[in-house]
Amino acid sequence: MEKRSELYAGKAKSVFTTDDPDLLVLVFRNDTSAFDGKKVEQLDRKGMVNNKFNAFIMEKLKEAGIPTHFETLLSDNEALVKKLDMLPLECVVRNRAAGSICRRYGIEEGKELLPPTFEFFYKSDALGDPMVNEYHVRSFEWATDEQVAKMKELTFAVNDVLKALFLQGNMLLVDYKLEFGMFNGEVTLGDEFSPDGCRIWDAETKEKLDKDRFRQDLGNVVESYELVGRRLGLDFDA
Ligand code: ADP
Ligand code: UDP
Repeated sequence: MEKRSELYAGKAKSVFTTDDPDLLVLVFRNDTSAFDGKKVEQLDRKGMVNNKFNAFIMEKLKEAGIPTHFETLLSDNEALVKKLDMLPLECVVRNRAAGSICRRYGIEEGKELLPPTFEFFYKSDALGDPMVNEYHVRSFEWATDEQVAKMKELTFAVNDVLKALFLQGNMLLVDYKLEFGMFNGEVTLGDEFSPDGCRIWDAETKEKLDKDRFRQDLGNVVESYELVGRRLGLDFDA
């Protein structure tokens, strides 16, 4: 497999084509951004930590029967993935209230959400990723009813697997964002699952161990990501 030209440089990852039209290389960079790209910093080792964290989680999801784009780790900062035709949506599940849901509805941070809430956001930097409902998704032809149903089903299936996994490490999976795309007609999990795109709290102390450490200037951002990984049994030196 040969890495070829850069297809796209996002806020945290760069995407490269390969000599196989069905495969891409994702390069996890140290760039860290928040607030629609208004706050940006380089965090040493973050690319490596997120790449290995994501590989670990994607393997767990694959074992649980969830179709993912992940193929293999290529290096500390690179992963080989299936090339998906991305659906322009972010799927968010929330087990507890935090972040934008507290600001929007005046819900107290930490409130347990039973059942967990599901939200779609339209992926558009220019528009600031607005929240959208299923009618928007259908009427604007961002996804079909069938794709909507599958994205919801898979996002909740991921919740069952990961809530239990994080609990084993004495952590709470508060919320997370997933992105899906199409591969050979199948709705497939793409992008990444790392502490950059979810909220994870210590189950006892409720200490924040995710990107909120960056958003809220709490310090030890990458150290916390590594701690989460180690508590899940991940060896970053392997
Ligand atoms: P953003 O685009 O939000 O700034 P990133 O910096 O993470 O995010 O860039 C990665 C880009 O690659 C995202 O736009 C994501 O939708 C896209 N992507 C992730 N996985 C795949 C895949 N398997 N096939 C095609 N595109 C992908
Ligand atoms: N999220 C993400 N990318 C985005 C927006 C949100 O990964 O562009 C994640 C975020 O890290 C959190 C969840 O989705 O785990 C819900 O985010 P929220 O709507 O609360 O927005 P925030 O307040 O984090 O901007």
